[in-house]
Amino acid sequence: MKNLTFNSIALLLNRKCVHQCPQCNLIKDQHRRSELSVDQWKDVFCILGNFYGVKFYLVLGTEPLLLGEKLVEIVRFWTEMKTFYGLYSTSPQPFFDEYKHKLLDVGLNNWSCGIDGLPGFDNPEHVDAKAGQGFEGLKWMADQGVQTMSVVTLNRSNLKYAAKILEYCQENIKNGMACLNPIEWQHDETFDFFAKKEDITDLLVPESARAEVWKLAQKIKAMAKRPGYKIQNCDRNLDIFHLVYDKLNYRCNGTVGMGVDTDGTLRRCGYCKGTEINKLSVWDIPKDPEYVYEIWYRDALSCKGCFWSWVQGLEETYGVVLPDSDFYKKRWEDKK
Ligand code: SF4
Ligand code: SF4
Repeated sequence: MKNLTFNSIALLLNRKCVHQCPQCNLIKDQHRRSELSVDQWKDVFCILGNFYGVKFYLVLGTEPLLLGEKLVEIVRFWTEMKTFYGLYSTSPQPFFDEYKHKLLDVGLNNWSCGIDGLPGFDNPEHVDAKAGQGFEGLKWMADQGVQTMSVVTLNRSNLKYAAKILEYCQENIKNGMACLNPIEWQHDETFDFFAKKEDITDLLVPESARAEVWKLAQKIKAMAKRPGYKIQNCDRNLDIFHLVYDKLNYRCNGTVGMGVDTDGTLRRCGYCKGTEINKLSVWDIPKDPEYVYEIWYRDALSCKGCFWSWVQGLEETYGVVLPDSDFYKKRWEDKK
């Protein structure tokens, strides 16, 4: 039998959020799904660990704190199983204050958030509603020794402020990591994470800003060298973004790994449900793990591509060795 492994799996634990970001498709009514119970999630993690050797979960999008006690139990399970994870939350109140100590008590070790803008740093017309509480949540968790990641999604409204936001996060969140990603859009209906390009034209970085992006890249690269700064994927993201930001069509060719949806349905990755793999669920894996893997892989190869880089950061942060990491180098060389 082939070596069927995934280093990482993206999870959508729920499809609810307190925010309504224009670039987000996940929480729209047509994409709503039933939620698994805690016992079902534990089963999911056991199946993925046993059949595909999964070591890392990335909880993407939506607001996991809305799961309340269920989230606490999931984190408890991960702690018991010594699982690595990246857990994204915007730390909304009153949920954050209600669950923060409970999460710490069960061994929480990662708390991450998109900080695309901050009051006082942002274009006043586009202050990012989620970032204020998200930043406070990261800061609090970091003070308790939890590893954090602040992700700045570069878009038209924060282009001028992105370097300042990263710097502010690095200076004020203890031992925190930060990274910069470009704003994404969906290519077709296989993508249910991102909004349509025409719906977010106001947020897309225009071609005319190419020189500005280049300057920003130099600034952030220099900043990333400062002692104590942990700005992840900086060189690659900025260089690649500068070259191709208007044609976000990178393909991971399967290196990013599969996703699991809120109801246990399998996904091509965290960002898109795919065309074939979404007809299967986690509970099809024990029946024929090789078949499920093949379907997923074919689906991943047929993807129209995206621009995302957390998989590279995974290597740097967790030391998880990605089987095809040279692929990224080659892909970058090909583009030059
Ligand atoms: S992008 Fe994140 S914070 Fe914004 S609506 Fe979607 S799930 Fe919520
Ligand atoms: S290129 Fe890879 S990470 Fe991007 S949407 Fe396609 S399958 Fe997902």
